[in-house]
Amino acid sequence: MTLFRTSSLLCAALLAVPALAQNTEFENCLNTLRAPARAAGVQDATFTLHTQGLAPDMSVIDKLNFQPEFRTAIWDYLAGLVDEERVAEGRALLEQHADTLARVQERYGVDPATVVAVWGVESNFGQTFGKSPLVQSLGTLSCFGRRQTYFRTELFAALRILQAGHIAPERFVGSWAGAFGHTQFMPSTFERLAVDFDGDGKADLMDSTVDALASTANFLQKAGWQTGQPWGFEVRLPAGTNVSGEGRRTKRPMSEWASRGLRRVDGSPLPTGLGSAGLMTPAGAEGPAFLVLRNFDAIYSYNAAESYGLAIAHLADRLRGDGPFTTPWPTDDPGISRAERRELQGLLILRGHEIGEVDGMLGEKSRAAIKLEQERLGHEATGRGGQKILRALRGS
Ligand code: CA
Repeated sequence: MTLFRTSSLLCAALLAVPALAQNTEFENCLNTLRAPARAAGVQDATFTLHTQGLAPDMSVIDKLNFQPEFRTAIWDYLAGLVDEERVAEGRALLEQHADTLARVQERYGVDPATVVAVWGVESNFGQTFGKSPLVQSLGTLSCFGRRQTYFRTELFAALRILQAGHIAPERFVGSWAGAFGHTQFMPSTFERLAVDFDGDGKADLMDSTVDALASTANFLQKAGWQTGQPWGFEVRLPAGTNVSGEGRRTKRPMSEWASRGLRRVDGSPLPTGLGSAGLMTPAGAEGPAFLVLRNFDAIYSYNAAESYGLAIAHLADRLRGDGPFTTPWPTDDPGISRAERRELQGLLILRGHEIGEVDGMLGEKSRAAIKLEQERLGHEATGRGGQKILRALRGS
């Protein structure tokens, strides 16, 4: 017993050394940042107030270095982001905030459905902000890891936001990488584009829905939003269309697409008067195809990912009353909604798997359990949650 206690104490001491060294390294690093922070407009008192005694959060470095074991298929990504639940919630919020959204549209020229769709995809309509204290996570990313220069700029912006009193320090939490609030702006984006639309003197993207909706529209307007224009639309490709080399950035006149035989997905001719468009086929020529216009680029610039842009664009269409895409995704095992993910997790628990909380997110434990069930059922053991495994477990 004594021996055990001694050795565990020894272990604790050995484990504590690297953490202590890390704390010292962090403190030294923060000290070297004080002068450049001052040059960037952060007063010494602000810097001291928010960084004194701060310990690094090394879990953000793990997240920075994380490489997913497989790439999420576009149909899985969209099935989770644009599901019936999010469409219903978004429609209710369109009504609830109709007055604000009308004023926002008048001021920035961006329509309510697009603004609410960004809100839904960015923060699940203000329900998911992230929980990392921003100065701690941005401080850690400024001193460790591979993008320190970028994160230092964001750290200084975060400190200036606190200094200006826009957001209370204890409310200043967000994603591990520093995006925060309803709009999930990075601190530098906040400084460029957040607006005080409710007139209380602060641009508050944590606690003011009015400021958040206006700031989203302001972002899109500054990104080149063209009032009254669609983002694009689904199209039908003639058999044998060569899509290689085509994409969002390869814009061609609508007349050229028409002469190549493209139609709207309902078979009607392509609209005229919309300028040039790029052909996007996120799952290849066999899946849904889209002609995308200038406004898609504005949405894209919010997060620099086409799958992300398509989620917002599609959610906006669904909020306006449109249905799902007409062309099915090229898979025999389509993706599942968040409600179906929760159902799948419930079925895994019934079968005795320890998967933690039923949260509709298929994390590591859920995927391990799915893999075991797939093996048992003789399916390909991928660990992916789709319609196939859901149907099989419902029936067993
Ligand atoms: Ca405000």
